[in-house]
Amino acid sequence: MDIIIIGGGYAGLACAFRLAHQARRHSMLCRIRLVNREDHLVERIRLPQMVTGQPLPYRRISGMLHHCGVELVLGNATSVDLGAQRLEVEGHTLCWDRLVVAVGSQSGSGDRPYDALAVNPDSSAQLLERLRSLAQGACIEVVGGGLTILKRSPDACRQVLRRARRHLDVLKGMSESAEQHRELLARFLTAMREGDIAGLARLFAEDVESRADGGGYVRAATKPVVGVRAVSRLFVGFSKDLPPDL
Ligand SMILES: Cc1cc2nc3c(=O)[nH]c(=O)nc-3n(C[C@H](O)[C@H](O)[C@H](O)COP(=O)(O)OP(=O)(O)OC[C@H]3O[C@@H](n4cnc5c(N)ncnc54)[C@H](O)[C@@H]3O)c2cc1C
Repeated sequence: MDIIIIGGGYAGLACAFRLAHQARRHSMLCRIRLVNREDHLVERIRLPQMVTGQPLPYRRISGMLHHCGVELVLGNATSVDLGAQRLEVEGHTLCWDRLVVAVGSQSGSGDRPYDALAVNPDSSAQLLERLRSLAQGACIEVVGGGLTILKRSPDACRQVLRRARRHLDVLKGMSESAEQHRELLARFLTAMREGDIAGLARLFAEDVESRADGGGYVRAATKPVVGVRAVSRLFVGFSKDLPPDL
């Protein structure tokens, strides 16, 4: 089966990892290709950092896909023929059995998006340049009050910091010492290795809940596991995967 994913953002990449994992798991013969304009994951949620002059890490998509056998096709997907199941990518025609469209959203701010929004690295760099070129005391008008805008407001940041500090103060009183921590971990691993469900259950809080995400690479429970008994059984099940020297 030929699967093509258009878009190498968070959605397209997550889809590629998961499909590759499922194909391996069910021994399916599958060719998975991901079409993206560049070999670089644009982390849009971090673009506001770029606008404030903070360097962002450069993440190569080819490096991330290499391990899971997904092919990267670089280029702009220009048209899709649903009847013939064909996709045009800069003069090349690709055929597919299944097509995933994960191209994200676009700015609705017209032909000068960089004046208003930082939606991609180029527009973010242009916005940073404009901000730097402003005279001291210049007035900036902000249109819109969504999370992206609020997150840049110093007042909002200070409030988040205050709340985090308060939360940490509460936790300080509850935290175990390093020694107690090591001892608890040793008891946890021993109970797990010995399949001692009752022993594990004694270590968990009553409302314990286990959530996991293997990111498409490793096995993980797909639904939250809730309750002392269920979580204890879950971890005993994992014990065979424990490295012997742990
Ligand atoms: C400034 C800003 C701040 C944000 N902050 C947050 C936040 O704090 N928290 C949060 O949850 N969300 C935030 N978001 C929203 C979040 O970034 C998006 O929801 C998310 O990026 C969507 O992921 P995606 O994979 O669907 O699309 P995208 O991340 O947009 O990825 C789409 C990919 O498809 C590629 N592509 C598009 N068209 C084509 C084509 N024709 N051919 C080939 N490739 C193509 C693009 O180049 C891109 O690589 C923010 C967005 C912005 C702009």
